[in-house]
Amino acid sequence: MQKCTCCGQSFSWKEVWKANAFLYSPLTCKNCGTEHTVTFWTRLIMGVFIATLLTMINVFLNRYHLAVRYQIIFVCVYLVLMIVLFPYLARYKRSKNNTNEHS
Ligand SMILES: [Zn+2]
Repeated sequence: MQKCTCCGQSFSWKEVWKANAFLYSPLTCKNCGTEHTVTFWTRLIMGVFIATLLTMINVFLNRYHLAVRYQIIFVCVYLVLMIVLFPYLARYKRSKNNTNEHS
């Protein structure tokens, strides 16, 4: 899990998701107040996750004539996995315009 680059305080799973759920808003350390922004890598992971999901849905609909309930179960499992794993993969860097500078 990502730690604060300033004081080393770990961000919680919930904090990472709160920041990510709404268009990658900055993640603020509750210990020292340092703002962190998502890295390109994090956006890439998010993009891959969504692209994979859409591809899977597309494949299900066009190639395999799986029962709708199986498709729904599969998509739900994928979404849950994505939601659980994403904060562990997300990476943040300190915002450039940070006023709180103690290293
Ligand atoms: Zn901190």
